[in-house]
Amino acid sequence: MSESLVCGLIGAGITKSLTPPMHEEEGRHHGLRYAYRIIDLRELGLSVADLPRLVRSARDLGFRGLNITYPCKEAVIECLDDLSPDAARLGAINTVLFEDGRAIGHNTDWSGYARNFDRGLEGAAMDRVVQVGAGGAGVAVAYALLTRGAQRLIVVDADLQRAQQLRNRLAASFDGDRIEIAGLADLPDVLRLADGVVNATPMGMAAHPGSAVPAELLRPDLWVSEVVYRPVDTELLLAARAVGARTLRGTGMAVYQAVDAFRIFTGIEADADRMFEHMTALVAREESVVVR
Ligand code: NAD
Repeated sequence: MSESLVCGLIGAGITKSLTPPMHEEEGRHHGLRYAYRIIDLRELGLSVADLPRLVRSARDLGFRGLNITYPCKEAVIECLDDLSPDAARLGAINTVLFEDGRAIGHNTDWSGYARNFDRGLEGAAMDRVVQVGAGGAGVAVAYALLTRGAQRLIVVDADLQRAQQLRNRLAASFDGDRIEIAGLADLPDVLRLADGVVNATPMGMAAHPGSAVPAELLRPDLWVSEVVYRPVDTELLLAARAVGARTLRGTGMAVYQAVDAFRIFTGIEADADRMFEHMTALVAREESVVVR
């Protein structure tokens, strides 16, 4: 019998996260005895200030690793012994590996977006890419787009300060001239010259209905990518498909961040197609429950 493996997800309001079933199911296919626990700050009546204690406890209790989500991705850094080079550049962590008593931080949000992009938008033009939303997911998406060769990334956010912060954070890793920031009022102008657009805002989720990119600004030669993955097809994706644009769902980012975290935890390359199928079925089941 193989050694048993325990991992967990720390965040707030995460009781319905699909990450535990994704990891456990993939572990089962590889014959692992793999338990993946939710550690929800809200449910436990804890706050970000409790993170050092939680991370230390997980390590002491023999957890192999942790995924980290909102609102802990930056705060967790001070609990760690080392960071991967990408995680250090990003200044945000979503995966922690405990190895030889040390806690090492990684970021698989950016690699998840990049791998999903490679899979679904191969060969897409990237001279000018517009990204709407400069929050937690936005930083990882911007890092991925710049790493994958976006010549010019125009970051639009309803809160210009967030766009500015994103630019400041990534300017040390990429030529600052490659990142422009723009206000919401400029969206029609910047989209007119763009090859593609990414939604990295929560718009499109059930709790944030609508689209951050008005349908009348879409066109067949503008590729459209989502980070929202619940629902699988957002209003933006449906509108983009209706005008004949190439589209990329947010599901793949969620799947590949799990694929990369699974490899970090287990040393095993997950079957991305199988995880994709599983994730899509989980979201579809959730949507059918909501509809009923
Ligand atoms: P966040 O709150 O940190 O950032 C959202 C940003 O969008 C903010 O800066 C806000 O000002 C901006 N914004 C909101 N509405 C806007 C609008 N209409 N126009 C322009 N800017 C607007 O949120 P986050 O953590 O970055 O998450 C964003 C979304 O990404 C969520 O829906 C989350 O579920 C999704 N997400 C997906 C994945 C994945 O793996 N696919 C991973 C992480 C997050």
